[in-house]
Amino acid sequence: MSATETSQVALELIDSPEIRQMRETVRSICLSYGRAYMRERSEAGEPASELWNALAEKGFLGVNLPEEYGGGGLGMSALAAVGEEISAAGCSLLLIVVSPAIVGSILVRHGTEDQKRDWLPGIAAGTTRVAFAITEPDAGSNSHQISTAAKRSNSGYTLHGTKTYISAVEDAQAILVVARLRGEDGSLGLPGLFLVDSDAAGLERQHIPTALRAPDKQWTLFLDDVEVSAERLVGDENAGLAAAFDGLNPERIMGAALALGGGRLALELASDYARERKVWRDQPIGSHQGISHPLAQAKIELELAKLMMQKAAVLYDSGAPAGEAANMAKYAAAEAGIRCVDQAIQTHGGNGFALEYGLTDMYWGARLARTAPVSREMVLNYVAEHSLGLPRSY
Ligand SMILES: Cc1cc2nc3c(=O)[nH]c(=O)nc-3n(C[C@H](O)[C@H](O)[C@H](O)COP(=O)(O)OP(=O)(O)OC[C@H]3O[C@@H](n4cnc5c(N)ncnc54)[C@H](O)[C@@H]3O)c2cc1C
Repeated sequence: MSATETSQVALELIDSPEIRQMRETVRSICLSYGRAYMRERSEAGEPASELWNALAEKGFLGVNLPEEYGGGGLGMSALAAVGEEISAAGCSLLLIVVSPAIVGSILVRHGTEDQKRDWLPGIAAGTTRVAFAITEPDAGSNSHQISTAAKRSNSGYTLHGTKTYISAVEDAQAILVVARLRGEDGSLGLPGLFLVDSDAAGLERQHIPTALRAPDKQWTLFLDDVEVSAERLVGDENAGLAAAFDGLNPERIMGAALALGGGRLALELASDYARERKVWRDQPIGSHQGISHPLAQAKIELELAKLMMQKAAVLYDSGAPAGEAANMAKYAAAEAGIRCVDQAIQTHGGNGFALEYGLTDMYWGARLARTAPVSREMVLNYVAEHSLGLPRSY
């Protein structure tokens, strides 16, 4: 899409009645499970399947995907609204970032017709859950340096390598793995995307315990000559990093959405507490500007970040370049969300540290957004280079 066409994409600043209704229903489903349910699932080390299924039944997990493949046809703008609402109700699910947003979006843009028919209806219905694996221990933020290799075989490809910090594999039927094609001379070429069954022979996984208080787990994956049939290569061998990036922009938009939702919840909890808590005379602590101003500031930053998230989603849905806006949205939402949770903890005084108040449960979820899916520094690198035309430093 050209710059002129891009400038004609319209950003709706007010939710349509359809999106408003969707937000309310998602919120009420999530509140019927609530933060206690999420804590219980997290402590049990089990996925939040009941909540996932309840959202899936109403079609909310596939709102972004095209109607002809069983989705809602409403694009990333709608899925971001779902992500924001689940998180604002204290029911954040990492799998919603991965399966419908990353994998669903990549299949829509780069899958063959057969792949779309085989995979998208299940992803839209929430019955097929697909994890996404790009990060590697030795490549880290530099996804051009990944070394997981895909070697052509008689039936398709043989995958070999290690992935790390891969979310929700325990609850996924398949994983979309980014691997580089190995040439005849042994050299590693362009990356390709491969749909690998999570119980494929040769695929082992090791749990990475983290501080996150969420049901989804993180894994290191060891692919030891995993056989993948030719029809599991998404798109073609030349789809490359461009295809992966068509999933990473939705990932950034959803990262922003979850961060915004968490920030909203933190501000709600902090404001409720600050209206009630009295420690000097008969005044609630919320009447002190030392408490109210930082909360007001956090609220402004949150709303600004939300605008950028909406812009990124509209650009993505229209097919316009969305990288800059998606990166900026993720950055702004992460920083705003962290500030909201930190200020909610401060507002609660000592109670901010008590498990009973749930703020400590929220802290690492909010903090994650500064590191993943793309780190704060890599967003700043992107903006410095692409938005400001500054020389690349690495
Ligand atoms: C809970 C969780 C879930 C995740 N889920 C997934 C998933 O489902 N799938 C997946 O593929 N990955 C996933 N990740 C991985 C995540 O995307 C990476 O952790 C993240 O991109 C950072 O990469 P890294 O950990 O290798 O850090 P590194 O690349 O080692 O970076 C370490 C630090 O150095 C900084 N740095 C690196 N390069 C530069 C540079 N050029 N300039 C300035 N600073 C730099 C980084 O910003 C960071 O602060 C997840 C991570 C976490 C923690």
